[in-house]
Amino acid sequence: MVKGALGRSLRTAALCCATVLAPVAARADLLIENVTLIDGTGAAPLPGASILVKGDRISLISPSAIQHGGGVEVINGKGKYLIPGMMDTHIHLQRGVIRGANVPNDMTLTTEALHGYLYSGVTSLMNYGGTEFIFPLRDEERAGKIVSPRIFSSGQSLAVHGGYGDGPGSILIDDWAKAKPEMEAHYKKWKPDIQKVLIDRHGVFTPLDKVPTIENLRDALQVSNEHGVRTTVHAASEEDYELSLAAGIDAFAHVIRYPASDRLIARLATKQIPMSTTAVVFEYIARIADDTTFLDEPLFKATVNQEILGLQKADERTRYINSKMSAQYQSMRAMVPTNAKRLYDAGAILATGTDRTWGPTLHMEFALMQKAGIPPAAIVKMATLNGALYIGRQKDLGSIERGKLADMVLLTADPTKDVKNLQAIEAVIKDGKRIDLKKLNVPANKQTMAK
Ligand SMILES: [Zn+2]
Repeated sequence: MVKGALGRSLRTAALCCATVLAPVAARADLLIENVTLIDGTGAAPLPGASILVKGDRISLISPSAIQHGGGVEVINGKGKYLIPGMMDTHIHLQRGVIRGANVPNDMTLTTEALHGYLYSGVTSLMNYGGTEFIFPLRDEERAGKIVSPRIFSSGQSLAVHGGYGDGPGSILIDDWAKAKPEMEAHYKKWKPDIQKVLIDRHGVFTPLDKVPTIENLRDALQVSNEHGVRTTVHAASEEDYELSLAAGIDAFAHVIRYPASDRLIARLATKQIPMSTTAVVFEYIARIADDTTFLDEPLFKATVNQEILGLQKADERTRYINSKMSAQYQSMRAMVPTNAKRLYDAGAILATGTDRTWGPTLHMEFALMQKAGIPPAAIVKMATLNGALYIGRQKDLGSIERGKLADMVLLTADPTKDVKNLQAIEAVIKDGKRIDLKKLNVPANKQTMAK
């Protein structure tokens, strides 16, 4: 806090030398000074910067000091790095239960997962599915009733009879006369942030050759857009990607998991359609069969409770092995990072996403992208501004620019040198307010309290 006398002397100085000093801040809420700013746009880091937040928005960015009056919370950023809040553009938030495990069905695990994301520096989440559960939770988040990253979500998916995702969670668009009013009612009731389409003609285990016709898909995407809803697709094969592109999809929920032609890579880059990377879902499920040690890494221990980690190493691991999912994902484990690097080189918009349910997996995703040869500075942009582009909220989120919502993370190490440094989190700011990381409901804090 600025002391009264100091505040007054600064104001006096500002009055006498107004022509040479940076603008004066009045009644500001938060000032981060002398920090290296990495703004998320891909611009070169700016050392010695000051960022002033008023209310929930970024009000001023200066390459030097900003004079200020009293009533400002000042964060000294010397030797530190300020980035926009990170985003996971593909998650499935668990409703208090981990599939296949005998744990209580209450909101504890959901709260822990949300707090774990904040602890991991994640301030925006794009969730898929879980309509009745997720939209009330989103309402609570938007009303400021819960401590949580921003929640964005799809509701029911679009699929076809006999195709991938044919089931109670989906609206089946091949029966268009029935599907169209269903979609409209769904949008009216829940106002989803995105519409997910499921197209996967090969399936993971068995061929599911039913996919929508291009006319059918085009009609459906049009209805979504007319209701202000962006569209994304779980597509798998090259044909699935081509069909989605031809029908006018707005985003892709995965990077292609099969060998892809140069032609498709070029088209995806030219069209500038954001893609969620999701390499870690394949890495996680393939790797857990013969190596569970990644679940012992510090960020997992800090944010996911031991019981759940134990179940991942036992029940979930067995399920992945027995279902042959681990074996099936071995080839995709290498293919997705390879394709991500090709897309990056071609100039496509990649947004980091995990298809998982915990904050630490996003940091695994960053490591996989770096290992694939994407420079760490580019990964920072993938985790921030590109995430906002994916969600369609780039006007308000994703970068540290004047007028945007103040979602930011202060790091003690340089993330443009190594994405590991994205875990060196000192402060997380959402909506201009500093989150009290010590009060989050995560194992790290319980361990401290137990000592
Ligand atoms: Zn998914």
